[in-house]
Amino acid sequence: MISESSLTCEALLNEAVALIKGDSPRLDAELLLSHVTGLSRTSFRAWPERQVAEEQAQQFVALVAERASGQPVAYLLGQQEFWSLPLSVSASTLIPRPDTECLVEAALSLELPEHAVILDLGTGTGAIALALASEQPSWQIWASDRITDAVELARANSASLGLPITVVQSHWFDQLPEAQFDLLISNPPYIPASDHHLSEGDVRFEPSSALVAGDDGLDDIRLLISQGQNWLNEGGWLLLEHGYDQGDAVRDLFAQAGWHTIETRKDYGGNDRMTLARKPISDESARQTHAQ
Ligand code: GLN
Repeated sequence: MISESSLTCEALLNEAVALIKGDSPRLDAELLLSHVTGLSRTSFRAWPERQVAEEQAQQFVALVAERASGQPVAYLLGQQEFWSLPLSVSASTLIPRPDTECLVEAALSLELPEHAVILDLGTGTGAIALALASEQPSWQIWASDRITDAVELARANSASLGLPITVVQSHWFDQLPEAQFDLLISNPPYIPASDHHLSEGDVRFEPSSALVAGDDGLDDIRLLISQGQNWLNEGGWLLLEHGYDQGDAVRDLFAQAGWHTIETRKDYGGNDRMTLARKPISDESARQTHAQ
């Protein structure tokens, strides 16, 4: 039973911090209290003695109990920000990570046609596709996912943000319309099945379909690299997120499959996080380009 005196913001937050484990208990508690009260996080510092209605306090206590048992904050809020876009999230797919914003930056740094046609494979919430749509309205952006709930989520995020993308239900390339893209971009599952991280922290609550890819974590990356050129224009790019220790292996896979201009780039933490490569330009079209 919560006593009257404990219904100030500060008292509720202190009780929550004592219960929540993890890296950022105070931040987590503030986000949850902000969610149930509609008050801003800064107001908790400016006005710690502010009273919280009992019903809201009870909702908060229930959310704190779920957080203390490990539920990711993003699932409890139903929302996660990515590229400054508020995205709805659900347990059917991965919670967008800040490191994946590096892929968006890399895509925006490429020289692509003004009306480039882009495909985000395994889009989940739609994060990458929607971030690109927010930056480049002249691009035609497609997104695919194998999971029905993820397809619906990506479509709902597209509608609520007013950012048009075309979402197709497809296992990688299986159901895609005949199209030649200028850029294929993906944050596929890439964690090895036996990785101990899978039993720690937020990933315990995320679906393994979004995380795990065979014994070495490279099953889906292998497929995307071996089939990708069939869906690209000459000179088109494939840009893949991968694990911090998979850069060498991913570059080798690209090289073996005949890709050009292979380059690994780092995330905000300084770890190898993505590799990009280009479909070769045939001699014939290179000659035509020179002749122009
Ligand atoms: N980077 C994520 C993690 O380690 C994994 C994302 C993925 O598999 N695509 O939690």
